[in-house]
Amino acid sequence: MNTRFKDANLRLSDFTNTILVVCPKCRKKATIRQSEKEGAILSCFECHYTSNKCISDEDRTDSITTDYWFGQELWLQAAFKNEVFWANNYEHLDYMKQYISSGLRERHKRAFFTLVEKLPGFIKSAKNRERLLKLIGKLETK
Ligand SMILES: [Zn+2]
Repeated sequence: MNTRFKDANLRLSDFTNTILVVCPKCRKKATIRQSEKEGAILSCFECHYTSNKCISDEDRTDSITTDYWFGQELWLQAAFKNEVFWANNYEHLDYMKQYISSGLRERHKRAFFTLVEKLPGFIKSAKNRERLLKLIGKLETK
């Protein structure tokens, strides 16, 4: 498989407009959106729970498997060996899928590290490709 991946020079911050998390009330899929006026808003379509928080750095949690503001578990995550594979939303998942499934990975000159360059080694490793794609397939239908 030699599909070519062109680094679109996207950063993780390009995939934070919507973050999918586990609803704190019903444990189903909830979304967090950011708005300048209201801060971060968590809302669940299942049980209609909503909550909002003003964005301040002190409130932010540092874990990679929870969101910044509410500390809720990310919806799209799965254990992979001793690591955790996670994505903020389906666009983010799809972008990593394109990267993982490609045989040739192109880079461009730019002034910062892009999302794919910062990915942990287990995601970049060609030997994990098949198992990762299977795992992504499962997350895509979650
Ligand atoms: Zn809910």
